[in-house]
Amino acid sequence: MARSATAKIAPGRASSRDVVPQRAKVTSLVRGERNCSVARMLDIVSDAWAFLIIREAFFGTRTFEAFRSALEIPRATLTDRLRKLTRLEIFRQVPTHVGRRKEYRLTKMGFDLYPSFIALMQFGDRWLSVNKRPPLILVHRSCGCESRPIVACSECSSELEVRAVDYRDGPGAGRQPSKPGRNTRRASDGSRFMLGRPSSVSRALQIIGDKWSFMVVREAFFGNRRYDKIQSELGIAPNILTDRLSRLVAQGIFHRRLYQRAPERYEYLLTDMGRDLYGPFIAMLAWGDRWHSKGKPPLLLRHSKCEHDFHASVICDKCHKPIVAADMQYKLNYDPKEYGALGPRSIT
Ligand SMILES: [Zn+2]
Ligand SMILES: [Zn+2]
Repeated sequence: MARSATAKIAPGRASSRDVVPQRAKVTSLVRGERNCSVARMLDIVSDAWAFLIIREAFFGTRTFEAFRSALEIPRATLTDRLRKLTRLEIFRQVPTHVGRRKEYRLTKMGFDLYPSFIALMQFGDRWLSVNKRPPLILVHRSCGCESRPIVACSECSSELEVRAVDYRDGPGAGRQPSKPGRNTRRASDGSRFMLGRPSSVSRALQIIGDKWSFMVVREAFFGNRRYDKIQSELGIAPNILTDRLSRLVAQGIFHRRLYQRAPERYEYLLTDMGRDLYGPFIAMLAWGDRWHSKGKPPLLLRHSKCEHDFHASVICDKCHKPIVAADMQYKLNYDPKEYGALGPRSIT
């Protein structure tokens, strides 16, 4: 069945004060989690430490001590996360010539997280920059330009928007039982995303790094905007859904609209900012499909603008070439001394 994401969007943000709890409806029918390539990536990066370690690796950090001093992360935690990321094949261990020391290098799959990080960073820069100044300026070495990468259609290279994409089930479609305990993040975790270098990716992950928040936003991309519909699609507990919807309204991702007066019912529509999450979403989807779907993506995407099936590609807005980590240089737009971070350098 084709699902078309064609929500009518009214601009503007709702404030947190007009959120009232929706009625609680208990459903015994838990449908399980939709197989989803984006969720596979979020499983990895929604752990704040894992995300920060990967980000440092993009900056060129490779050794245990270098990670430890850049992030001030406890030794046991760092050991645990490096082991986990190595097991997930994001890193590989490489012996060095200096003693028995080992380095952690990103694998191809690890490096391929980069376009998604860039897409999240662009989102964060547009909507979440504290002083309206992006913390990093990107320079694309292939063309020498200051680059503002865009998430584009692989077939026609035009920027992707949620309303121009149709979905249908792919060969990997299906559901798996929800795994209890995996979906909740400790409340304290959110602030940890902000450690070390200021980063727009961290800010974006504060919003969608929580897995339930992400899944609620994903339902919006599929055109599902009503409480009951979202609840039955996700099999989510009513109190969690109410909490996440309130939070997403407060963060400016959704605004609420009354669609029925007696009893009062609201639907949740993406704001401009919410729709702009679509770029990172679809970039993460492409990563999950490339590395974790065994050639059987759960969703197939069709671009209505060019009428082709496509995958998302993060490209330079100036030269339209795909963004890869080795081609990018950063200029810091903040004083690194304030953060104890390293000076500007390329990531190769
Ligand atoms: Zn296209
Ligand atoms: Zn370029």
